[in-house]
Amino acid sequence: MAKNIQAIRGMHDILPEQSPLWHFLENQVRSAVESYGYRELRTPVVEMTDLFKRSIGEVTDIVEKEMYTFEDRNGDSLTLRPECTASCVRAGIENGLFHNQVQRIWYYGPMFRHERPQKGRYRQFYQVGVEAYGLEGPDIDIEIILLSRRFWELLGLKGLELQINTLGTSGERARYRERLVEYLSAHSEQLDEDSQRRLNSNPLRILDSKNPQMRPLIEQAPTLMEFLGDESRAHFEALCAGLDEAGVDYVVNPRLVRGLDYYARTVFEWVTDRLGAQGTVCAGGRYDGLVEQLGGKPTPAVGFAMGVERLVALLEESQALPELQTVDAYLVLVGDNAGRQGVILADRLRREVPGLRLLTHCGGGSFKSQFKKADKSGASIALVLGEDELSQGVIGIKHLRESREQEQVALADLASYLQSAI
Ligand code: ATP
Ligand code: MG
Repeated sequence: MAKNIQAIRGMHDILPEQSPLWHFLENQVRSAVESYGYRELRTPVVEMTDLFKRSIGEVTDIVEKEMYTFEDRNGDSLTLRPECTASCVRAGIENGLFHNQVQRIWYYGPMFRHERPQKGRYRQFYQVGVEAYGLEGPDIDIEIILLSRRFWELLGLKGLELQINTLGTSGERARYRERLVEYLSAHSEQLDEDSQRRLNSNPLRILDSKNPQMRPLIEQAPTLMEFLGDESRAHFEALCAGLDEAGVDYVVNPRLVRGLDYYARTVFEWVTDRLGAQGTVCAGGRYDGLVEQLGGKPTPAVGFAMGVERLVALLEESQALPELQTVDAYLVLVGDNAGRQGVILADRLRREVPGLRLLTHCGGGSFKSQFKKADKSGASIALVLGEDELSQGVIGIKHLRESREQEQVALADLASYLQSAI
């Protein structure tokens, strides 16, 4: 027999039993972004490959080794999006969203990176992201950090640490870069292969190395803080002061550089020690140069992206999970006649009771086996319709989650009974 076809390595099904938790997260996220006035932008999952090469940077993990790139039937080089900021900028330029306007945008969807799959690191994964265009900050930088904190509050996640840093302007980075290359060249024997290669092409990225053997060298490296000009310094100080005033705890991490090329000034990450090596759940910063780099008018921008699988993993192990019920009532139907009438009754009830989530038993079977299924469904009420009930025009009601007497309600009163019960 032929072997069953399996999902692609690093790409996962979200099963029906897992989706209530995903929905909880999605609902909280939506309510947070809407409360801050952000509007959703949906872009295609494939883009021209050049979009990512020109935005993320040629000498980055993503572009060098993680993109799903293929030729379509016209011979165009396309790529499954590895992230969505470039797509937002592309869409914004293409649709004139940045012309003398402030835009507050959010997005949600799958991203694709050909990485080594492990806990918290997948080849298809979901991100929620937030982007604000047309504002130089630091007020807006503070706003989006507060928005990210609001997510943790609404999700009930505790113990996340905020790390912030500044990358200065491109000029400041260029001077720092010279100093950094000097330092790293003097210790070139300690550089791993990736870092050797990046020493000339993208030395800042060496600070982002995931190789633990590189850690001591990185710890001792000169920091960008010493190379900041007055404006960048003032921007960073105002950011810190704003966070202090808002009561946000943070740690300044001078080695936080972020993996993508397009960042400038503010960068930040929310990290946890509860997910092992993949501890960053949210990452972002300011990327003032990107819109212009992709052909638009100069437009300041700031944003972040969160890894949804990592947040779901945190939620799964958190104690404060809300009850995630998906069904209110289960209709037990005993006998052929009840079986036929029941489907129609259920259809009517769903219309009459807004929001009612009612599961009808199909396929017959004994009262006992149906009752087991009612219990397993998570419903709080079992409605029982048998031949006796039908002939009397009533329905039996059993409470599955509280110890209450079984009741009988006239079919004519059932809708209003359920209305107040759910
Ligand atoms: P890392 O340093 O972990 O590789 P990154 O810098 O590549 O992360 P970003 O591109 O900034 O990550 O993406 C933002 C967030 O998306 C990350 O903080 C993480 O939560 C999530 N993320 C990134 N890559 C993956 C992946 N392969 N699988 C699951 N989540 C991911
Ligand atoms: Mg990465």
